[in-house]
Amino acid sequence: MSRNTTSILIIYTGGTIGMIKNPDTGALESFNFDHLLNHVPELKEFKVAIDAITFNPPIDSSDMEPAMWSRIVTIIDSNYDKYDGFVILHGTDTMSFTASALSFMLEDLMKPVILTGSQLPIGALRTDGKENLITAIEIAASKHPDGTPVVPEVCVFFNDKLMRGNRTTKINSESFGAFGSNNYPLLATAGTDIQFFPNNIKRYLPGLKLKAHHEYNSNIIIFSLFPGIQKEVVEKLLGASELKGVIFRTFGAGNAPQKKWLIDALSKATAEGKIIINITQCAGGSVHMERYETGLQLLQAGVISGKDSTVEAALTKLMYLLGTGLPVEEIRRLMSQDIAGEITL
Ligand code: ASP
Repeated sequence: MSRNTTSILIIYTGGTIGMIKNPDTGALESFNFDHLLNHVPELKEFKVAIDAITFNPPIDSSDMEPAMWSRIVTIIDSNYDKYDGFVILHGTDTMSFTASALSFMLEDLMKPVILTGSQLPIGALRTDGKENLITAIEIAASKHPDGTPVVPEVCVFFNDKLMRGNRTTKINSESFGAFGSNNYPLLATAGTDIQFFPNNIKRYLPGLKLKAHHEYNSNIIIFSLFPGIQKEVVEKLLGASELKGVIFRTFGAGNAPQKKWLIDALSKATAEGKIIINITQCAGGSVHMERYETGLQLLQAGVISGKDSTVEAALTKLMYLLGTGLPVEEIRRLMSQDIAGEITL
């Protein structure tokens, strides 16, 4: 492909955007990238050079694995100097996990990495895939007059909204507005023009070199509280010897029932070096363990505040930090700190 001033690499992992219906079962199955390209002839009209790398085979994002995040990191790292930006086509089901993971694994990223996909396949009449793909490419290619990228960070673009990737959550399984970013404002909106909100976008810092991280440890679990939770089950779960950390989904501002056995189980797990992160079950807002007696007891048991992180961000951050081999105390400290724009200070 001939090189223009701006070049974009598309990484096609799969997802509904490129799926077609299996005539026998009626279920949607992943299909190859050429099929997708055939439905977006507009790509040829772009004034930027576009290349593509595709997962073979493309996958439904429910099959996404941390090893594949590493693979995406390798692709971006080895093509970093060749391209101005990257667009990742991804299923919506786990897009927020991948976007969050990449925000940690691509340390000091200074180029756009825009994830997008669709709710309807690209071949469907009312598809949202075409619009999402075309605008994601435009955003990835956007530069300031001095040639620096407008959005040098990992984002999700969906349904006219550009969001910081590690602030997103899939909020709707059917609506075109599949993603929300409750604790962080939009980075841009796409109407007749793309309007960027520079105050919300990570600042471009010249001279920073990408540090690609590939290691992770996924011996962790998301554990959600509910009224009536049982002692034996919790003790077994927290006592598992392989367990390294827990994303502990609590009530409201980070509260839990006042049960001595629960606090004892959490204190014991913490003493064993397991890292327990408090994340609210609410769709928005932050954890404040000092606010109520029901939260304070967790703080005293060694539970760490994940503040206003999403579950996806806290989970992938913990996997990433455990993979770095840092001491437990340092990981505990970093889990409450903002390291990639995932926590509001
Ligand atoms: N199951 C699909 C996936 O995540 C859903 C989608 O792409 O919207 O790959």
